[in-house]
Amino acid sequence: CATTLPVLEEQKRTFDAERAASLVKDLRNNFRSGRTKSYEWRVAQLQSILRMIDENEKMIIEALYEDLGKPELESFTAEITMLKSSSKEALEQLKRWMTPEKVKTSISLYPSSAEIVSEPLGVVLVISTWNFPFLLSLDPVIGAVAAGNAVVLKPSELAPATSSVLAKLLEKYVDRSAITVVEGAVAETSALLEQKWDKIFFTGGGRVGRIVLTAAAKHLTPVVLELGGKCPAVVDSNVNIEVAVRRIIAGKWACNNGQACIGVDYIITTKDFAPKLIDALRNGLEEFFGKDPFESKDRSRIVNSFHFKRLVGLMDEDKVSDKIVLGAQRDESQLQIAPTILLNVPEDSLIMQEEIFGPLLPILTVDNVEDSFEMINEKSKPLVAYLFSDDEQLKKKFVQNVSSGGMAINDTVIQVSVSGLPFGGVGESGMGLYHGKFSFETFSHKKAVLYRSFAGDSSLRYPPYTPEKQKL
Ligand code: NAD
Repeated sequence: CATTLPVLEEQKRTFDAERAASLVKDLRNNFRSGRTKSYEWRVAQLQSILRMIDENEKMIIEALYEDLGKPELESFTAEITMLKSSSKEALEQLKRWMTPEKVKTSISLYPSSAEIVSEPLGVVLVISTWNFPFLLSLDPVIGAVAAGNAVVLKPSELAPATSSVLAKLLEKYVDRSAITVVEGAVAETSALLEQKWDKIFFTGGGRVGRIVLTAAAKHLTPVVLELGGKCPAVVDSNVNIEVAVRRIIAGKWACNNGQACIGVDYIITTKDFAPKLIDALRNGLEEFFGKDPFESKDRSRIVNSFHFKRLVGLMDEDKVSDKIVLGAQRDESQLQIAPTILLNVPEDSLIMQEEIFGPLLPILTVDNVEDSFEMINEKSKPLVAYLFSDDEQLKKKFVQNVSSGGMAINDTVIQVSVSGLPFGGVGESGMGLYHGKFSFETFSHKKAVLYRSFAGDSSLRYPPYTPEKQKL
């Protein structure tokens, strides 16, 4: 991972607005040459990406471990396998996705035909994040390439080993004249954001999302914002508690140790059920991570000491420190915090105001489980809302009454593996969609095309608009 090519080191040191402008110019020229538009070019790139992942699994897993202490199995299932599926689906479906869609025309236009043609947007920018740094960098790139665009990827500087591996591998495997990685942090991203792009695909937080949207507005560039938020899990008493608890733990602590945009941020349950749920979570956590969670190798670490201190600050706030019912042990040298559960923290506490993005889980209680709907809807719209219940009526009401980017009933996180489902936020959790065909569409313009022949040219539509014509 440390063997970054000299050219990339050089690029990292000197990448400014001038270099960014020149890069975009080159990519635009290459895009205009038409090379990225052909089916063959797209297939060749997708095959290379698939081969790149296949041939370098070990290097990728090591980089993810270096950046996040990510357990090998999590790297494999949540990053490598997901990307392979995306590439394979794009390869299998590309011909179909690229085929123009026929549309009926009205009799008044006879003879005519119409179709929707998917055309690539041009030169697109993908800005990525650190928590699933391989998946969330390459997955949008797969969509952009499948749609025939030239693309610049800017991975996160907070996952430097993965960023370096991405730069090194993509340079080796794909067409560098149309697919490029720019490594770096704020300065490099700002230089990129000054340029005119045909689309910007951003994954990260709302604060930077606003910076991206503002920069894009200057050029009227369309933007996808894959943001985060506080994803609630409502837990009804009518559940298989063992399965529910396993799936909640999987969607919290066994998913990058809570550092996941779709992870469970907080739970709402009833006052009566809360003690039973907490007991089951305590047992489940011990079963998964042992009596001493610091001994377990099956949880990622906190990404860096800034985020470690931020998380400690959330659980040590005066308002909530006496609400801790489990965990709270911390070790800064290992960047680890034990799985921590807090009960009935006040709504105005920091932990309920901010996205937690770590191994802390507040549980709020209500008299009636349906009271949770209003509690969720009063906050910014989450990326995902989860419900655990065996009650069909409650499931229906949840889907109808709670607004969120997506939902999963009786499970967490794995909904993202269903590529037929679009992935994206709503309101403050983001805008735009991707995954499967939605990725292709996100990076395509749907061009409306009408075909007419010279036959059937009625004079009725042309001036002069005589009284006879107006009567018809
Ligand atoms: P971030 O917004 O701080 O950083 C994301 C990217 O923006 C990085 O590449 C970074 O280099 C760049 N950046 C940072 N500051 C910038 C600035 N001032 N100007 C220009 N670019 C800048 O986010 P993060 O901390 O990397 O990620 C955490 C957030 O991402 C959480 O809110 C999480 O929910 C969200 N997230 C969302 C998804 C999703 O798919 N919806 C996935 C993962 C994470």
